[in-house]
Amino acid sequence: MAAPDPRRTESLPLTTVVSPGLARSRALNRSALEDPNRFWAPVADELHWFERSGPLFEPTDSPPYGRWFPQWTSNLAYNCLDRWRGTPRWHRVAFHWEGEPGDRRALTYAELHRESERFAAGLRAAGVGAGDRVTLYLPMVPELPIAMLATARIGAIHSVVFGGFAASALAERVRDSGSRLVVTADGGWRRGKVVELKRTVDEALRATPSVEKVVVVRRTGQPVASDRDRDVDYADFLRLGRGPVAPVPRTGSQPTYILYTSGTTGRPKGAVHGTGGYMLWSYYTMRSVFGLGDADLYWCTADIGWVTGHTYVVYGPLLTGATSLLYEGAPDSPKPDRWWDLIERHGVTVLYTSPTAIRSAMKHGDPWPRAHDLSSLRLLGTVGEPINPEAWHWYFREIGGGRCPIVDTWWQTETGGILISPQPGLAAFPLKPGSATLPLPGVDAAVVDEQGRPLPPNEKGLIVLRRPWPGVFLTLWGDEERYREVYFRRFPGAYYPADFCLVDDDGYFWLLGRADEVLKVAGHRISTTEIEDALITHPAVAESAVIGRHDDLRGESPVACVILRPGHAPSSTLRQELADRVRATVGAVAVPSAIYFVEKVPKTRSAKIMRRLIRDVVEERPLGDTSTLEDETSIEEARRAYEELKRELARPPP
Ligand code: ATP
Ligand code: MG
Repeated sequence: MAAPDPRRTESLPLTTVVSPGLARSRALNRSALEDPNRFWAPVADELHWFERSGPLFEPTDSPPYGRWFPQWTSNLAYNCLDRWRGTPRWHRVAFHWEGEPGDRRALTYAELHRESERFAAGLRAAGVGAGDRVTLYLPMVPELPIAMLATARIGAIHSVVFGGFAASALAERVRDSGSRLVVTADGGWRRGKVVELKRTVDEALRATPSVEKVVVVRRTGQPVASDRDRDVDYADFLRLGRGPVAPVPRTGSQPTYILYTSGTTGRPKGAVHGTGGYMLWSYYTMRSVFGLGDADLYWCTADIGWVTGHTYVVYGPLLTGATSLLYEGAPDSPKPDRWWDLIERHGVTVLYTSPTAIRSAMKHGDPWPRAHDLSSLRLLGTVGEPINPEAWHWYFREIGGGRCPIVDTWWQTETGGILISPQPGLAAFPLKPGSATLPLPGVDAAVVDEQGRPLPPNEKGLIVLRRPWPGVFLTLWGDEERYREVYFRRFPGAYYPADFCLVDDDGYFWLLGRADEVLKVAGHRISTTEIEDALITHPAVAESAVIGRHDDLRGESPVACVILRPGHAPSSTLRQELADRVRATVGAVAVPSAIYFVEKVPKTRSAKIMRRLIRDVVEERPLGDTSTLEDETSIEEARRAYEELKRELARPPP
């Protein structure tokens, strides 16, 4: 079978000089690996430490095979806020916030500091101390970063649970972390409706004995049930304690937070991030990748409930003194141009979002962004999935006006920050649409075969990280064994991210989809992404999801769910065209045995396709865990489309 060539588009020489940037990036990568202590010392000097004793980096025999700042002490909240006192940043806006109904609020660094310190005093008065866990279940309102910073200030550990999760998913995460306090809101706005967060908390807490107190932010103002002994209004909570609250020094290996992965592949894993190393990595990657200056208004659209929101909405921007936009609601509320309107009105200069968001904007159509002046933008970013060339080009042309480089950033919840990406803040070099380009300094990435043998250029294999980088996660909460098993057993001595990858002749990395989503068709291993990428090259296709159905003869056979763009209707001709396209680009063996036209596919709350649920529908199995699902209706629609197709196929030909 002919292997697909992911590099279907030639490289675009952007506003950069070719070789010096590449050479510089490679040299920085090498020197950080050769002598981590020397390389990172001046970066660490830009941050505040209470005490520096012992080595900055120390190799260890057990996973993750090294410790960062093991005895140095620091505090993340201090570095995000207090560090700016007495500088011009102190009175600059940290967050321009806009609610979905259009209400606005701006918070300077000084104001964020004041309010988070009052919240920290409340936490202390409520008996929460260093090492205690606090669950934050909030909409995208300023109180969320405030509560995170307050928790970090007193050395407690936050666990942010995405505000779209149902009660059972929330309860599972509260129980797993053993949180003593939960912060929530009466509700949050989403597509003009109130998401009733407090009600969900009440339901979840029936089965979570560890929780003593619930702090309730008034966001929507609708009445909510209140438990006199347990619940306290946010405004009252701020008056509970007395400041100032000295930041609690934490060593590099003491946790700052727990964050559960999106659960695309199974039971969510509670990734634990430390303090010094995580802080250095958030700071350094934020600067290297986005290179913000005083004139920038930066917007990362991720929900704070995901790692992208932790590192690139809250910690990275505050550590670098950025001014950011924070938006509460849905991208298409009240109309599909909400984002473009926000960018125009606020003058956003850097936009960081996901391929899924880009594809859904494409689906709404070009007139929506075209109706707005997006000329303030200078840099675009993506994260979360491989970006297909069509979406890359649309983003480049329609949103970036053909002017803005795109940083395609590869990383994971577990890695704490970006690992492979263009680095315009460090060294500008040419981009290739669909490639995350080069590893950042200190990232020792390689592509290996199933046995762990390094592969030559242009051969697809598994990406491994052979040395710990500063942002590496410390463990899985309460499950060190699973930590070692999932991430470090497959290739001894290295971290295993479970993603496919290929390095080209220029040393550019092409991330080719999840290694945990592969079909085995008649002995051929085909990644679901390859087939999806082929389908999406057809002009009628907005999005697709491919899964493997059990097949007695071939082991598995590919089945595709396809979402069409407006103006295109399902037909057997179209089905044939799609099959032909897969045959031509991937190979005959990859042609789907069925193509279903659907309105939606099931996605996690972080907008990743949940292929295991589609498989359940297609194979008529009972549905597995749906707690991280975006929208129950999508699975129903897939089921309906499936039933329709079955009926259609059962009809005798005319
Ligand atoms: P779980 O581990 O619970 O199944 P998840 O892996 O979906 O959930 P995240 O940590 O949010 O949760 O996602 C990381 C994954 O997202 C990466 O392993 C990779 O597959 C994909 N990814 C992220 N950024 C990129 C990118 N720029 N290019 C290609 N893939 C990416
Ligand atoms: Mg993962």
